[in-house]
Amino acid sequence: KPQVIIIGRPNVGKSTLFNRLVGKKLALVDDQPGVTRDRRMGDAELAGMSFTVVDTAGWEDEDPDTLPGRMRMQTEVSLEGADAAMFVIDARAGITPLDEEIARWLREQEVPVVLVANKAEGKAGEAGLYESYSLGLGEPIGVSAEHGEGIADLFGALWPIIGAKSEAAEAAAEFAASEDDDETLGPLKLAIVGRPNAGKSTLINQLLGEDRLLTGPEAGITRDSIAIDWNWTDPKTGENREIRLIDTAGMRKKARVVEKLEKLSVADARRAVDFAEVVVLLLDATQGLEHQDLKIADLVLQEGRALMVAINKWDIAEDASALFNGIRAALDDGLAQVRGLPLIAVSAKTGKGLDQMLGAAFELRESWSKRVPTAALNRWFDDALEANPPPAPKGKRIKLRYITQAGTRPPRFVVFGTRLDMLPKSYERYLVNGIRSKLGFEAVPVRVVLKSPK
Ligand code: GDP
Repeated sequence: KPQVIIIGRPNVGKSTLFNRLVGKKLALVDDQPGVTRDRRMGDAELAGMSFTVVDTAGWEDEDPDTLPGRMRMQTEVSLEGADAAMFVIDARAGITPLDEEIARWLREQEVPVVLVANKAEGKAGEAGLYESYSLGLGEPIGVSAEHGEGIADLFGALWPIIGAKSEAAEAAAEFAASEDDDETLGPLKLAIVGRPNAGKSTLINQLLGEDRLLTGPEAGITRDSIAIDWNWTDPKTGENREIRLIDTAGMRKKARVVEKLEKLSVADARRAVDFAEVVVLLLDATQGLEHQDLKIADLVLQEGRALMVAINKWDIAEDASALFNGIRAALDDGLAQVRGLPLIAVSAKTGKGLDQMLGAAFELRESWSKRVPTAALNRWFDDALEANPPPAPKGKRIKLRYITQAGTRPPRFVVFGTRLDMLPKSYERYLVNGIRSKLGFEAVPVRVVLKSPK
């Protein structure tokens, strides 16, 4: 497994980033003699790419005078086994002399460095983000470790460095699981998110059968604070399928978090994406699509989850077809990266559309989990390049050699070639659109990384 070390001066948010990457899994303390008792290590997973992350927060010394020297000594020890370093700065505080000193030192090291500008949520982090270019460590990745923003970008930056090493482990695991893809998918992990009053609780009650939820667990339904397992019979096929419903409201209560009402739905969605494969964003037909909804949708997609939208309260919708088309257009416009995502009209009250919604959720998970054989992938790739060859800026040819699917859930692809830094974003979009429309990944978030062989 590749190892990534987190470096930075005190209070920039190293531990928060560490916790964000490691999640709920227990962090191991490395008690190797001669190293340092303060080294925390954990298994991290970023969009399916797994690595070991090392936190150096414990190096912070009470005595600031000796801090730089102490940090350097400790860092040097830890850099030895590292495949990459994440150098964290505080985008709100801007660049400090200590940051500059660490950067100077890091520039002399062999290990590849990813510059991470933390606390970059909102406007307050902007200046610091731009300022950090001056550290000479390349493009900073703006993240908010606390709010989980920018994590996809972090993946994009780390992947070219450690992806290959992590890929091997992943490939082995996937080979083991490849016997029967359908069998290995397990219960559909589904979350329903949306603004307050969209009808989430009503929908869940309707799905499970009202009184069953109220009267507690019954045969076929088990319920803990975060998940409800039940079996749904697909009326189209007669198949009995397992669904695990992620109960974000229950999670919130269990965690005893108090959130402002307007932030509540976003926070719920954030919790949901950690557990769900497919997320249903529930809209209220009497309210339409609002900015807040797009924000939730965006968050779900950033985390690489499969997203679909259901318009609830269809029983009282006015001017139904105009409403539907309007929402369809606004979604395709606001979420262009998943144009054509499943949109379904439902009524939590009457149960209309709910079977269709669940059927679509299973289908969506299928493409989200799908793997395209390399040969078929490269047949498409060759055709795409022939139909629209990459540009040759200043007469220099950009060579795109081949493509592989590095992972699923969400689908991830790596394009290998040379002079890739000169490839225009528009061409990247052309490739992503091709993957989506020609290879059956409509409406799921697709990631493409460009990579030059060493
Ligand atoms: P939540 O905050 O998203 O959990 O929303 P609730 O499930 O508490 O629902 C909010 C309100 O909308 C309640 O008064 C429900 O009775 C009502 N409601 C929910 N779904 C429907 C529906 O499909 N049709 C109608 N007419 N009302 C609904």
